[in-house]
Amino acid sequence: MSRFQRTLVTAALPYANGPIHLGHLAGVYVPADIYVRYLRARGQSVLFICGSDEHGVPITLAAEKEGISPKELVDRNYVGIRDSLRDLGISFDNFSQTSRPIHTQTSQEFFLDLHASGNLRQGTSQQFYSESAGRFLPDRYVEGTCPHCDHESARGDQCERCGTQIEAETLIKPRSVVDDSAVTLKDSTHWFLPMGDMQPWLEQWINSKTDWRENVTNYCRGWFRQGLGDRAVTRDLDWGVPVPLENHEGKVLYVWFDAPIGYVSATKEWANDRDDPEAWRTWWQDDSTRLLHFLGKDNIVFHALLFPAMLNAHSESYIVPDNIPANEFLNLEGDKLSTSRNYAVWLPDYLESFAPDSLRYCLARNLPESRDTNFTWADFQARHNNELADILGNFINRTLTFVEKYFDGRVPEMGELLDVDRQALAHLDTSIGQVERLMESFEIRAAAEALLLVTKEANRYFDEVQPWATRKSDLARCGTSLYVCCQFVRAFAGIWAIILPESMEKLWDALNIPGNLESEGWPSKERRLPAGHPVGKPEILFQKIEDETIAAQVERLRAATQ
Ligand SMILES: [Zn+2]
Repeated sequence: MSRFQRTLVTAALPYANGPIHLGHLAGVYVPADIYVRYLRARGQSVLFICGSDEHGVPITLAAEKEGISPKELVDRNYVGIRDSLRDLGISFDNFSQTSRPIHTQTSQEFFLDLHASGNLRQGTSQQFYSESAGRFLPDRYVEGTCPHCDHESARGDQCERCGTQIEAETLIKPRSVVDDSAVTLKDSTHWFLPMGDMQPWLEQWINSKTDWRENVTNYCRGWFRQGLGDRAVTRDLDWGVPVPLENHEGKVLYVWFDAPIGYVSATKEWANDRDDPEAWRTWWQDDSTRLLHFLGKDNIVFHALLFPAMLNAHSESYIVPDNIPANEFLNLEGDKLSTSRNYAVWLPDYLESFAPDSLRYCLARNLPESRDTNFTWADFQARHNNELADILGNFINRTLTFVEKYFDGRVPEMGELLDVDRQALAHLDTSIGQVERLMESFEIRAAAEALLLVTKEANRYFDEVQPWATRKSDLARCGTSLYVCCQFVRAFAGIWAIILPESMEKLWDALNIPGNLESEGWPSKERRLPAGHPVGKPEILFQKIEDETIAAQVERLRAATQ
């Protein structure tokens, strides 16, 4: 048995510069939510934490473009992100913001602790300085001529024409994007996390992880081979968590440093909201807590190397992640998603036209767990129509219709079980066990497939025992086979609920089962529907999606890229 008594699950903080799209959902939020719902359904203690990541230069640039303050921009985007994720059924226990005072305080405390214990080193770096504005400018605020291709408006850190990363000192005729005045390079004093010193501990720790996904451990080993270096923790900017030391005006914590601390501050906020302000410590500082980070591959370095190094260096005994089930990327109709080209399916747009469960299912069947995968609207329609509607919806509907019509809406008596019935029930139990094993090892895509297979098996059983024929020839026999079908329906409400919470809640209500689906719905031999139990019939759970509806989405995507 595991030494863990509870699980803290974090989902990578979405960046507050725009809405959520399908790539975020497949990489982070859908798998994390399915996993959390699975733990809750198994009666485990779990806390699901997230929030929006609201600091950094892209935020200040976007705010300046709109003529509003960074805080106005992030507050507006926060609401949009929070509400759309909620509407998709992503069931966070808290969804906070890194621009809140509790986060400033928590991040500063972290910085000061590492500073006091000598885990931060002071150094200088050269940065662009604007004489006209009297301040340092981040690279993204500077343009100049590319030293590689002579492009005249290359960014301070990268040339968008030739794609080359640019060292600040090589940019020709650098100027400020704010007022077009010339800028110069000047020494700026900063604090650095000496990751090289922490590499031996990190290597030993990563090497002890035999059950992590290969993409995560391979990625870390690649970094170890290069050798970790000092990493700047502070920068010159006025939007962010101020460096809590004297004579550090105009300096803030780097967003990579403060963002993961957001998980801690969001947990503190959750504890405060429950009037139990010290409760966060149980989740972060008790080694019977299991910490899991769900994220996309672009976030591995922060969660597998930098944040664990910070947690380990802190003088209080923080736990470090037990696993980091990182995902690869989701492509869209065969191309890379691109927010700058508006080549994406945005969650608020999706929710205007479709039910949340359809997308949750389609993504679950196609999660980029070990390699990049591809979303197409045609596949979305096929999975909804041919799998959710024709297999799951159909089985629930035909079973409950028979019970309603011929057995007064009550689960029939279980008469003598034949081999075919016993095999069906045994198959159900085996499949539940298989889903459990797959979920425990983060094979969520395979678990979704196993759910579909057992649902197909239920339909096959229904066809084999032919209740429409036995109804006339042998009503007791008909009742027994529908008793078996009712057990499948009962089990489906519980196991499918981790992927299809909205639809299965409707089914659960129709089944009149006492108790809470989310925490008491997981099926077992002891949780069968007894004969005589009254069951109703839900509305049609999955209406077919028409070709025109899908064609409109494909057209919308095509138009957006022109
Ligand atoms: Zn260039």
